[in-house]
Amino acid sequence: MSDCIFCKIAAGEIPSATIYEDEEFRVILDLGPATKGHALIIPKAHYANLCEMPDELAGKAMILAKKIVTFMMDALPCDGYNVVQNNNEVAGQTVFHFHMHLIPRYKGDKAGVSWKPGKLSDVDKEEILKKTEALRK
Ligand code: AMP
Ligand code: ZN
Repeated sequence: MSDCIFCKIAAGEIPSATIYEDEEFRVILDLGPATKGHALIIPKAHYANLCEMPDELAGKAMILAKKIVTFMMDALPCDGYNVVQNNNEVAGQTVFHFHMHLIPRYKGDKAGVSWKPGKLSDVDKEEILKKTEALRK
């Protein structure tokens, strides 16, 4: 995608603070970090979101997340991690090239990846169990 900023970053055409790179991915520091060390896993091939990704590459992205998080827990160091991945505008996606946020968490930090818990209603539960029957066949 010629007008995609993450395609250009992944290809090295736009400079980035790259903490890891291999044939399929580049991992960079986010320019607007939630906390110190916030990084983004970006595949070099363009896929708009998770649903568009081939299964194998999606699996590799999660394995890479595990590798980076495990390393950074000691290297930073930090106390925990949020792995966040937004799909589509309604979910907060602003760059429409798949990426995974790796957000280090520190005791007492003010970062928030949170929601107000509701309560699972019987109506919703029954409806969703019915709609997902095909998943369990
Ligand atoms: P999302 O809202 O999930 O699409 O996340 C997009 C992220 O990309 C945000 O956290 C931005 O701060 C980050 N971002 C946008 N442009 C750049 C850039 N050129 N270099 C590094 N991070 C960027
Ligand atoms: Zn792209």
